[in-house]
Amino acid sequence: MHLDPSDCRILFAHWVLPISGPPMKDAAVVIEDRTIIDVLFKAELSYKYPPEFLEGLAEEPHDYGDAILLPGLINLHTHLDYSALRCSDVESGMFDWICRLVSTSSKWGPDQWRSSAAFGAREAALAGTSCIVDSSFSGYSVHALAETGLRGIVGLELFGLRDDEANAVWGHWLAKYDALKNTTESASRVAMATEKIKLTVAPHAPYTVCPTLWLKATTWAQEKGLPLMAHLSESHEECQWIGSDNRRIDEYLTFVKKLFNPNLATSDSGILEELSQIRWKGRGASPTKHLKNYGLLDDNLIAAHTVHLDDDDIRILVETNTKIAHCPRSNAKLRNGRASLENLIAAGLEFGLGTDGLASNDDLNLLNEARFATDLHRAHLPTMQWSSEQIVNSMTLDAARILNLNQEIGSIEAGKLADIAVFKLEHRTHGSDNPYDLLLHGKTRLLDLFVDGRAIVVGGELV
Ligand SMILES: [Zn+2]
Repeated sequence: MHLDPSDCRILFAHWVLPISGPPMKDAAVVIEDRTIIDVLFKAELSYKYPPEFLEGLAEEPHDYGDAILLPGLINLHTHLDYSALRCSDVESGMFDWICRLVSTSSKWGPDQWRSSAAFGAREAALAGTSCIVDSSFSGYSVHALAETGLRGIVGLELFGLRDDEANAVWGHWLAKYDALKNTTESASRVAMATEKIKLTVAPHAPYTVCPTLWLKATTWAQEKGLPLMAHLSESHEECQWIGSDNRRIDEYLTFVKKLFNPNLATSDSGILEELSQIRWKGRGASPTKHLKNYGLLDDNLIAAHTVHLDDDDIRILVETNTKIAHCPRSNAKLRNGRASLENLIAAGLEFGLGTDGLASNDDLNLLNEARFATDLHRAHLPTMQWSSEQIVNSMTLDAARILNLNQEIGSIEAGKLADIAVFKLEHRTHGSDNPYDLLLHGKTRLLDLFVDGRAIVVGGELV
């Protein structure tokens, strides 16, 4: 081994969770620059590494003591650029909420989008998240992730209901993508050039994107080997609107059309008439079957929410290898319901957890999402089998696999990038000694977060 010790650091913790293997008690992780090069028991260190190596380290090995060290968490669905809308009024349900969200943010200038996204990225980092999958209306999520030092995949959102306008809308989206890809902001440029941040497309939802436009997005993402993100079967209204009709969604679409086209001559009834003539809806299909019918489901798609699925929908999602971002708190807050995770697990669907944006959640803390999910599903289904270990896997290695990043991140293994979260165990319990249980249900606090070997959070504070 030709290692320069001055490029290396060693971290000790009472628990190391490699995820790819069993938990290790009193273990050490050796990092060289941005890469994990070894994971071993503390007692093995002096056998494996000569004294001159240990003495040559730039810093003394860092012993976190009573702490849990694990891969940085991966959040599969956020909207960082709406973070300033935290604590939005969600009382009256999804479509009142979304109208207010769109209306308020439509008045924002670049500085507001920027600070809103930055706030969200910092909050996520402080919760131990090292990688974020974000659907971004403004594109400022890229700058927020880059400036905070986080890894991520940002989908620039795509909207467009009219087939006859799909070419123009897609051209406009590509121009926005190119502008962001060629940004003059150096942190973002470097992060995109090194693929620490990937930029992709996010067709918003089946009720806001026509199949012609969605197909352009799917084809483009396939050619680039990128995932794409969408909302799917989030609300009862969406299912009704795609299958037949829904007045609330018609009102929402009318509202948005007028908001973004203030000089539009068409009256409300004219817009409603246009909506009633859409030929790709109203055929009795569920949103999932609708996408399947147009060839829009594949293994690149990460579908957020999937609250309202029947058995056929689940079978289709399995056959097309569609990936799921499970967002239970947002679904509950917006009164959309509970996604039956037990059925997704039984069918073998690949899923991870997402917090959704701060506008529909209390925080961007994935451990809190997992805690809520556990209680929610157990309360609904007392026989639900979903262990703490499986839950932690869903926020780390399972999520990395969904992103096709499992060769790089998601576990603590030699050769992987050093994306590492360290949580202090604040209360030594006499209960479980299962580190997965302790992480979720013991009292923990984030100490340090490393992304690409670089410390982003130190001692619970952003660097
Ligand atoms: Zn969302």
